[in-house]
Amino acid sequence: MEDLIERAARDLLASKHAIALTGAGISTESGIPDYRGPNGVWTKNPEAERRAYLGYQRFLDDPKEWWVQRLATPNIGALGNLDEVVPNVGHKALVRLESMGILRYVITQNIDGLHERAGTKNLYEFHGCFRKLRCTGCESRWAREEFDLKTLAAKGELPPICPKCGGIVKTDGVAFGEPIPQYVLQGSIEQAKKCDLMLICGTSAVVYPFASLPRVAKERDPPRRSGASASRPAVTIIEVNAEPTPLTEEGISDYLIRGKTGEILPKIVELATKLKG
Ligand code: NAD
Repeated sequence: MEDLIERAARDLLASKHAIALTGAGISTESGIPDYRGPNGVWTKNPEAERRAYLGYQRFLDDPKEWWVQRLATPNIGALGNLDEVVPNVGHKALVRLESMGILRYVITQNIDGLHERAGTKNLYEFHGCFRKLRCTGCESRWAREEFDLKTLAAKGELPPICPKCGGIVKTDGVAFGEPIPQYVLQGSIEQAKKCDLMLICGTSAVVYPFASLPRVAKERDPPRRSGASASRPAVTIIEVNAEPTPLTEEGISDYLIRGKTGEILPKIVELATKLKG
């Protein structure tokens, strides 16, 4: 594994526009369970996955009732109280790579807000953030404290209404079946097309359209004809994950560093710092 850590450090240093894609795996070491890892919420309870797919339709059918239910159960399903968790050394390693001028963007599937709390500046929260609310019309986002939800509930004035466009406001977390906000989707695709290195951390890479981002990046590297000279690829895709994923199996990633993000990412950053001198 040490040789792959060195390879990743050297690849990051040689890159001109590196980005990171992250998933639930980077936050398990902060105490938040993932969904599909060996101890994942859905691995242990497939019924919970089935129920999760119904939530967005319920919002569309009756946003008022959806909000009433939502305020009665403030914790997001089985993920626990996300207000109490803190970033771990994996999140902080990505902040360090950004401050070294190596990492240009982090695109996360996580809704836990831990990248922002760790200090990542250039961030797309692809599936939103549990601390925020979003207008389903104009896509404006706010910290949830900006709406007095308890008073709105007491007055029977749910759902909250967007002060800018009059659209219906929902929690920012993107539900299954809900479209990804346009500015996040377009910005993420742009980053995937632009990057020359993609560091993919702690995702099973099965949730779309997020899982298409590595494929979008890889499209710039068509398979070489046998005998063609081996030039540097347009994009290097590195996975750091506890187990192989479809990206590993389909050869989308160039290599997998197998293990915990909280152990591997700090080692990569430490070595990159040393090599940079
Ligand atoms: P996933 O649960 O499908 O997959 C997580 C992957 O990370 C698995 O392959 C697992 O083996 C690996 N993993 C677990 N711990 C790891 C560690 N310490 N180091 C390296 N790898 C580790 O997660 P996903 O791909 O992100 O998809 C799940 C969806 O559910 C996402 O859309 C996300 O929004 C949501 N989700 C979010 C959170 C969160 O915000 N923290 C938690 C659970 C699920």
